[in-house]
Amino acid sequence: AGKAAQLQVRNLEAWYGESHALHGVDLDVFAGETVTLLGRNGVGKTTTLRAIMGIIRKRRGEVEFEQRSIMRLPLHRVARAGLGFVPEERGIFASLSVEENLMLPPVVAKGGMSVEEIYGIFPNLLERRTSPGTKLSGGEQQMLAIARILRTGVRMILLDEPTEGLAPVIVERIGEMLKVLKSHGLSVLLVEQNFRFAARIADHFYVMDHGRMIDSFSVADLPARTEALNTALGV
Ligand code: ATP
Repeated sequence: AGKAAQLQVRNLEAWYGESHALHGVDLDVFAGETVTLLGRNGVGKTTTLRAIMGIIRKRRGEVEFEQRSIMRLPLHRVARAGLGFVPEERGIFASLSVEENLMLPPVVAKGGMSVEEIYGIFPNLLERRTSPGTKLSGGEQQMLAIARILRTGVRMILLDEPTEGLAPVIVERIGEMLKVLKSHGLSVLLVEQNFRFAARIADHFYVMDHGRMIDSFSVADLPARTEALNTALGV
């Protein structure tokens, strides 16, 4: 028998009011993997992350993290179970300095990184440690948002479009940083529009359309999938 996935999503449905946004999503993330969720605008990628976390309460199906259902847990208990989330809007405190932002998150699990360890992984946060959140570039904000999650000790992070709106050279650095997280054993599920970026960092891909998964393949199958993907992504 194969090893169970660290995150296992089965037949997940979600609603915004009366609007049925997810129609039964299945997804696996294995420990240590980087998995990318692809798809055009509005197909339900962000909704999938929100429904997994339970930010959207109107949902049905099953979500298991490390063999335990998290469907009934409030958000703070999901983080304590070891699953973190960085939303597209990043959620850092604009009026606080970089270091203050890093001091705030509660350590929820063993293995939460110290501020020193964080600076080792993100040297430019060290350079900017006294700068307020408002003075950071988009790339620095994204790094700070991820660094805050690492402080908590979660074992998997869900990232919503970390490269959105960033210059190519910064996208490159976010990619390097994600590889460092991987080398620390962290699992990552990310939503990404930038397919070329995703292709360089992901082990596995899922493709969504109209609130459903329409394809799933590993990085080794990527070349054979290029044409189908171009159609699905409308590029
Ligand atoms: P994008 O990259 O544009 O965010 P996405 O694939 O992440 O696309 P979602 O944001 O998950 O797509 O949106 C899925 C569907 O749900 C869309 O039709 C969207 O209009 C709808 N939707 C998203 N957020 C809400 C909301 N807060 N209230 C009502 N409908 C919403």
